[in-house]
Formats: sequence, C-alpha cells, structure tokens
Amino acid sequence: MRQAFLILLVLVVFFLLRRKSTPRARRRAPGDDRPERMVECARCGVNLPISESIRARGRYYCSEDHRERDA
Ligand SMILES: [Zn+2]
Repeated sequence: MRQAFLILLVLVVFFLLRRKSTPRARRRAPGDDRPERMVECARCGVNLPISESIRARGRYYCSEDHRERDA
C-alpha cells in the first residue's frame, strides 16, 4: 500500500514537472512544414515569418518596439 502511494506521488510530481518545463509552444501545428507566409514590418521593412510577427491594425511588425513606434 505504501509503495503504491509512493508510485502515485512520483507520477504526480513527474506530471507537474513536465507541465512546468514545457516551453511556450509557438502557434504552429506539429507536422505543418509548409513554407510559412512572410510578412514585412510596416516600420522597418524587414521580412519575417508571419508567426513571429506582431499584428496590429491590419499591419505587421517585427517587434513590439516597432509596433509601438508606428502607432
Ligand atoms: Zn521592424
């Protein structure tokens, strides 16, 4: 009985650690290897994948900084 409790405890700890250590997933479906759409920063014109861009008012920006500067 005591062993069963210990195993359960280990499993719970393992589960919690796994949840914590999971890095924030990029919003990209696994197995989706299609070439990503590139967008241009409305402030500096740099090209970047759409998933890494910041969208505001229908325009795309390379960083939070540029989004704010272009307000
Ligand atoms: Zn920019």
